[in-house]
Amino acid sequence: MTRRILIAGNWKMNTRSAAAASLAKGVVEAVGKSPAVEIALCPPSVYLATVSEVTAGTPVELGAQNLYAAEDGAFTGEVNAAMLTDVGCQFVILGHSERRQLMGETDACVSKKLHAALAGNLTPIVCVGETLEQREADETESVIETQIRGSLEGLDEARAAGIVIAYEPVWAIGTGKVASKEQAEAVHAFIRDLLGKMFTPDVAEQIRIQYGGSVKPGNAAELLSQPNIDGALVGGASLKAEDFAGIINAAP
Ligand code: PEP
Repeated sequence: MTRRILIAGNWKMNTRSAAAASLAKGVVEAVGKSPAVEIALCPPSVYLATVSEVTAGTPVELGAQNLYAAEDGAFTGEVNAAMLTDVGCQFVILGHSERRQLMGETDACVSKKLHAALAGNLTPIVCVGETLEQREADETESVIETQIRGSLEGLDEARAAGIVIAYEPVWAIGTGKVASKEQAEAVHAFIRDLLGKMFTPDVAEQIRIQYGGSVKPGNAAELLSQPNIDGALVGGASLKAEDFAGIINAAP
């Protein structure tokens, strides 16, 4: 089974409209017309339309960093799946560790968002990952299992194959500390095995599992060449077109 590598840039709460447009242009120019891998940019929601104008008609896709799991209505400050597809999104990042830690998002909340994303024809990128304390206490697998089972609650086999999981060890996000290829591959293999038990081994083979946590042009090749690493969710290094392109070009 060949899973197409997906490199997604999570811009987090960075850029302004001119910088967002110029960063998106830089990526579009750098990747050309037929990149070997799938590429998505996830700008702040207020700049989705700006970036969409640049990426429309190019191979670079668009993703949001969050959504609210409800139809239109009285939800001040929120944005739903229909609005995201309306501005051209194909992807939405869900359950990023920053949202789990700073906004108190739980697995149950991520699961609601997952179902809303799928109902709205968005591909969810569901983030999971352990803290340093949890890794040191040998709890990585149990933490990841709880997060995946909870975040994917109620997901049926037919839809499971199309989702993306991002394994992002919290201790490696924005810290410059990258998981070694062996550490990352071991967790990715564990996740695939778990998905095989939750769905079927065939479905698990189709689900893409990205790695995220201080991915840079210099370490991307060894991570992306691991058998169970199917892409990267990139934070800091996605804010410079040449660095992001360097990661894309490092894909095997
Ligand atoms: C992220 O926040 O998704 C991330 C992986 O950030 P960084 O690449 O900066 O570690």
